[in-house]
Amino acid sequence: MKVTRIAYSARLNPGKYAALVEQARRLGRVRSEVWQRYGSIAGVGSGLADRQVRDRWLVDGTHIRFGVLANAWKETLRDAMADIAANLEAAKVDVRRAISRRTNDPAERKRMFTALKADQWASDPFLARQMRKHWKRGRNRTHHQIVVRADKYNTAVDRRGLLWLAVPGLEPRKMVRIPLSTTVAPTGTLRLILRSGRVEVHYQIDAAQMRSSQRPCGDRRLGVDKGYTEALTDSDSQPHGVGLGVMLSSESDRLKERNRRRAKLRSIANSAALRGDHAKAHRITVNNLGAVKRDRQAARHRARVRTEIFTAVHEVVDEAGTVIAEDLTKRFTGRKKLPKNINRRLATWTKGVTAEALKSVSERRGSALVLVNAAYTSQTCHHCGRFGRRSGDRFHCTSCGVAWQADVNAAINILHRAGDPDIALHTPHHVVKQILQDRNDRHRTRLPVQDSSPTTAGRRANYPNCSAMSNE
Ligand SMILES: [Zn+2]
Repeated sequence: MKVTRIAYSARLNPGKYAALVEQARRLGRVRSEVWQRYGSIAGVGSGLADRQVRDRWLVDGTHIRFGVLANAWKETLRDAMADIAANLEAAKVDVRRAISRRTNDPAERKRMFTALKADQWASDPFLARQMRKHWKRGRNRTHHQIVVRADKYNTAVDRRGLLWLAVPGLEPRKMVRIPLSTTVAPTGTLRLILRSGRVEVHYQIDAAQMRSSQRPCGDRRLGVDKGYTEALTDSDSQPHGVGLGVMLSSESDRLKERNRRRAKLRSIANSAALRGDHAKAHRITVNNLGAVKRDRQAARHRARVRTEIFTAVHEVVDEAGTVIAEDLTKRFTGRKKLPKNINRRLATWTKGVTAEALKSVSERRGSALVLVNAAYTSQTCHHCGRFGRRSGDRFHCTSCGVAWQADVNAAINILHRAGDPDIALHTPHHVVKQILQDRNDRHRTRLPVQDSSPTTAGRRANYPNCSAMSNE
């Protein structure tokens, strides 16, 4: 598994930055050309490889007009072809769905899946039609990136301990030296992204090399419930990532206040422009409504939340060899956009990070991640199985006469779902409710019968869950 790391430039000379921006702009034209020529069915879709395209360009002289070094355009061409291929693969997901809808015949399905995989869909009318429908012709939007191959750059540490990255510029043998704000040298292929006066150096490392990947996992089985005050609560009543709630609410307050101020400034700028005071409007737009500071603050907040959540998951995996969790990816895989309300938007995003952390940490540290259907796990009592009432962080069960800690109650229910023979991951919500209700009804009728008469035995055999539940 690969993990992306980002290094940042530190106080980069504006002249060097401008030179890099110019190089990226020219390489953006290379990308546009690749998308223009090969971004459709005639290009990658017909099985054309980046090497063949490269050779064609060398023959017809396409590369000359871009005014960049040979390695730079070749790497960019390869990168753009990979983008197109990814675009194509995304379209195939929809086509696969269409195939499943079209036929139930396993042999026919298999034939079509295979043809699709091997890019041999052009000869099949149905597949060709579906591909044309789902593969929207894309275009290049990347004009601020430079891809540098591993053997084309070098790093060096100066006397003050500062790390410098030297990458090729627009002239042969003239490297652009970039001071970095880290002491860890990037490795492998680099993607330089130029953003608001700063260079971001993106590169990938093998997750196995990360220190945290070498930590062994625990040997217990733990259920976890995602929360808002804390990132996770486990079935042992232990909270993890307790700083999350404060982080999210203070960020939400900050964003609301900032958006309010920006809206006010924007209206002042607009009315100044209407009056004809364009100098003032321009001043406000440039000095007070910029994106640099805003984007950096947002990135910092995201990084803090990610660290909190990943740390929480690591804590759970320290104890657990098997983590049982709700499938958090389920509800937002669709095309639904993030909600407009800030609190809800942060919550949705946090859920995605938690899902990613659970998957990534489990993979790296060798623990098993079991995803379960979490329907009604926060509304039923883990002790008796009845429906109860949640108020704030308490869960009241009138049947047991007990108030449980709501997150812990849910985490224990989630833990039990892993062994539930009736409730599968995709069992619909209303079916889950029915199953739980039936169990409660049965429980009630069974309770007074204490002997092992045939009726009781028969009931037990018909409903294996009751015994399974009370045994756990
Ligand atoms: Zn109860």
